[in-house]
Amino acid sequence: MTKRAYNFNAGPAALPLEVLQQGQEEFINFADSGMSIMEMSHRSAIYEEVHNEAQSLLRELLGIPDSYKVLLLQGGASTQFAMVPMNLLPAGKVGAYVMTGSWAEKAIKEAQLFGETAVAASSETDKFNRIPDLSTIQIPANAAYLHVTSNETIEGTQYKAFPETGDLTLIGDMSSDIMSRPVNVSQFGMIYAGAQKNLGPSGVTIVIAREDLVAASPKSVPTMLRYDTHVKNNSLYNTPPSFSVYLAGLMLKWVKGKGGVAAIEQINRDKTKLIYDRIDQSGGFYRGFADPSSRSDMNITFRIHTEELEKRFVQESEHHGFVGLKGHRSVGGLRASTYNAVPVESCRALAEFMSDFQKRNG
Ligand SMILES: *Cc1c(COP(=O)(O)O)cnc(C)c1O
Repeated sequence: MTKRAYNFNAGPAALPLEVLQQGQEEFINFADSGMSIMEMSHRSAIYEEVHNEAQSLLRELLGIPDSYKVLLLQGGASTQFAMVPMNLLPAGKVGAYVMTGSWAEKAIKEAQLFGETAVAASSETDKFNRIPDLSTIQIPANAAYLHVTSNETIEGTQYKAFPETGDLTLIGDMSSDIMSRPVNVSQFGMIYAGAQKNLGPSGVTIVIAREDLVAASPKSVPTMLRYDTHVKNNSLYNTPPSFSVYLAGLMLKWVKGKGGVAAIEQINRDKTKLIYDRIDQSGGFYRGFADPSSRSDMNITFRIHTEELEKRFVQESEHHGFVGLKGHRSVGGLRASTYNAVPVESCRALAEFMSDFQKRNG
């Protein structure tokens, strides 16, 4: 049996062992072609099948309506921060953003380079420890869209429901929780996500968009940054990240094998409950950062009362085979990322380690 770490990395993150093993089996000779998937033309029938299958699995698992396009792009979610306003924020209109934390801030900052923006709601005064009450969201009359970050990876908060925006386009950065729970795609005009947290390795970025939004981009937008370029060419305008698309496809099949996203959601909840219960039952030794109403099922953020103990926690956890438990440098503390591929055994081991560490240091 291969030795595997208890991997709680925030991204790139754990992949299922079965997926890695299948990738290994097919690595040198894919589909009897005498070469790896990385060595063949992206115009070949074999690659095209891999490409189309990844798209159709996304459609099937997320229940994406036929009136939506599924794009496989590059540049990460960070490139989407710019592509969204370049393509969808015309002069005279306002890009409205809900400020929930570090990633929402990056998204609005990028939009400010291209047009007028507005903060529709913010939890900054609470240090971004929660998702703002949806009833406080104020959308300017001339808004082009409302942008939300479904899961704040660094602060460890997550929307439990999304704002109802009627005819106004709702755009969601779902980089750190896509495919972790069912989502009503038709509530959104666009959803985007880098793959490396919940969908596969880094290198491919998923965009799910209502057809009419991506049919025609403004003339001045460069070819590679236009949604319509990728729509017209089935995301094969230029060389795609073929190996990443292939591995994401394997991961999607793995999700399907687990029973789909509803089943995965239950598994994820059971996993995070093990760790949140440890925090809540520690008598204050561990303190959750996120307000319980906004707790993420993907990134569990918590603190111990001294930085010294936090440091010791990380050091000792590493000796016990845990990886990635240090909080993001911008907020400090501790963080366990429990994406789809993190097995329940890792979470159980972490809960036990937390109890043990408290006994020794409480
Ligand atoms: C990681 C992350 C990003 C950035 O993704 P890249 O693919 O590295 O550009 C953006 N938004 C959220 C919510 C993230 O978790």
